[in-house]
Amino acid sequence: MQNPHSQNDLVKRFQRKRYTPEEYVAGIQSQNSVLLSQAITLIESTLEAHQQTAQTILEQCLPHSGNSIRIGITGTPGVGKSTFIEALGNYLLSKGHRLAVLAIDPSSQVSKGSILGDKTRMQTLSANPNAFIRPTPAGDSLGGVARKTRETIVLCEAAGYDVILVETVGVGQSETIVHSMVDFFLLLLLPNAGDELQGIKRGVMEMADLVVINKADGDVLPLAKLAQKQCNNALHLFPPKSSGWTPHAVLCSALQKSGIDAVWQHIQIYETQTKDNQFFAQNRARQAQFWLHQSIEQQLKDLFYKNPHIAARLQQLEPLIQQHQLSPFQASEELLKIFTNQS
Ligand code: GDP
Repeated sequence: MQNPHSQNDLVKRFQRKRYTPEEYVAGIQSQNSVLLSQAITLIESTLEAHQQTAQTILEQCLPHSGNSIRIGITGTPGVGKSTFIEALGNYLLSKGHRLAVLAIDPSSQVSKGSILGDKTRMQTLSANPNAFIRPTPAGDSLGGVARKTRETIVLCEAAGYDVILVETVGVGQSETIVHSMVDFFLLLLLPNAGDELQGIKRGVMEMADLVVINKADGDVLPLAKLAQKQCNNALHLFPPKSSGWTPHAVLCSALQKSGIDAVWQHIQIYETQTKDNQFFAQNRARQAQFWLHQSIEQQLKDLFYKNPHIAARLQQLEPLIQQHQLSPFQASEELLKIFTNQS
């Protein structure tokens, strides 16, 4: 009998027709990466019909999600994120894990994305059937992009990926956004980080569960060791984390694949420790609540700006505000009155 979910067959069928939400869910649960990709495309679509299907798929996948460790990875361009993810990813695959790599790239709105967009990145990973790599979704706001990534995590977990990596470059609020959807947050730094500790955003350092000094190889090894010491000193100055976890700085060479096992060991100890002290589950519950409020805010905004009466009145009021004939507060009050009277 022909396998109804064989990849070629599915690609052909997809060109002819859309699947039902139930078919998508069955495909995702049978670890079919074509159907998973197509479902993520629906999540990313702005078409109303696609969104409806996507939400049904999500709802049905939700009970099968959550069974993973979600790891955020941040660092400036060139620090070695993709080399590191490839090294860590291959290490995890060799241990029998299934790995999804997602990205949030705030620069994607302008430059069409620098993260994961380039096909030459993570080549060995993308060739492995147990790894799933998805570029950053397009979007008109960081909040919108983040929501799509969070929903994509649910689908990937339902598809049996037990390690989810979410990569970001340190631009704007992207680190905070990624931090709000992961269990463990990893900051990659260069061997000269010691010199630059003052320049590293305090908030990012404070969010880190592990600081990894990458490129700790060759001539710069002594410099990397010094950076490690300075980072450890800096980390000790932060107030204790509510997770009960004490972050450390470790050395690694993604290129030479050294220090990767130690990174994974830290993550595993963190997982055990925070599951024992309940922080892991509490943190996920808090994150879910945060996303509820994010989602409400986003939808309210959409409803407001898409309302034709608001749009028309806004167009009339904006020039008056620019010419200082009306205060922005008065105008917003009037617009909100129009909105609430209509809803
Ligand atoms: P990303 O922009 O953060 O994704 O950085 P890439 O992974 O593309 O790496 C940028 C450059 O640093 C590439 O030329 C890599 O070969 C190099 N690189 C990455 N990791 C290491 C490392 O551990 N040691 C050394 N010496 N070079 C590395």
